Amino acid sequence: MKKIVFAIIFLIISSCALTQESKRKNKDIALKYAETITYKELNVLLTSFASDEFEGRKTGEAGQKKAANFLRDFYSKEGIKSPQENNNYFQIVPASFMNPLSRQGGLNDSENVVAFIKGSEKPDEIIVISAHLDHLGRAYTRAINYGADDNGSGTVAILEIAQAFKKAVEDGKGPKRSILFLHVTGEEQGLLGSKYYTENPIFPIKNTVANLNTDMIGRVDVKHQKNPNYIYLIGSDKLSTELHDISETVNKKYLNLSLDYSYNDDDDPNRYYYRSDHYNFAEFNVPVIFYFSGTHIDYHEPSDTSDKINYEQLENRARLIFYTAWEIANRKDRIVADKAIKE
Ligand SMILES: [Zn+2]
Repeated sequence: MKKIVFAIIFLIISSCALTQESKRKNKDIALKYAETITYKELNVLLTSFASDEFEGRKTGEAGQKKAANFLRDFYSKEGIKSPQENNNYFQIVPASFMNPLSRQGGLNDSENVVAFIKGSEKPDEIIVISAHLDHLGRAYTRAINYGADDNGSGTVAILEIAQAFKKAVEDGKGPKRSILFLHVTGEEQGLLGSKYYTENPIFPIKNTVANLNTDMIGRVDVKHQKNPNYIYLIGSDKLSTELHDISETVNKKYLNLSLDYSYNDDDDPNRYYYRSDHYNFAEFNVPVIFYFSGTHIDYHEPSDTSDKINYEQLENRARLIFYTAWEIANRKDRIVADKAIKE
């Protein structure tokens, strides 16, 4: 008899604990979808995207166009549509726009790739999540510059983030504001695809709430060998105090990565704030965060390959970006650019 009583008490206690656990999970919807972003899927995607097939993805060349098709096919298969007419995933960036501004010239027409999740309550307010899809093509030795970290890592992170948002939509839990997934071309030639987008935006720039940009988020740099749970954030407090606070809060709540602001310093000689695609958005007073895991000996070398990526950390960083976007998209009021430069 005693045994039965104990068994019953045990059952009651354990079922209470279970309900608590499922309540917590239910309440935290963001967590559920963030967990669909996995190092395994990132690995599969990046192993393809940084393979021989794409020949280093040089702007306007055959390999880059194959890469653009790869992204289009991913979105199409996931049922994530383009915001453009006829479900056209490509925004053409003409050679005539790029060549006068480019480092080398002689470029062919190229394309940004765009995919879109429409907000359920404030569809006109847009969060742009971006990464450049192009790289350097072949080295002078004819070896392929694979660009696994630069910027295959940011590219596949966006694909996984988009998939997580799509799953939320399918469950009736989609974001209140809209999300534009923007894969820009011509970065290595001088931030050209993002410049073209911000001068020819699909949605008005004044309705663009924030830009979260990723460029090289797959490695662990020398400084962080002992603590690989980190990411450099650049720009988060430059235009919006609120954006910075959101980013800090979601990180503490879900991931607790070490957020390294060394490169955010205005006096930092690397000037990374000005050196990737987010800067074209910042120029229009759109608050930005640039996510970056730092430089390494394989930077802009054929040895930047997919086997050198730290996929566990890439997963963490992709989840951080997802949580930040989720919060910006779902909070009651649009974030304020309190430090925007007055025109
Ligand atoms: Zn890059």
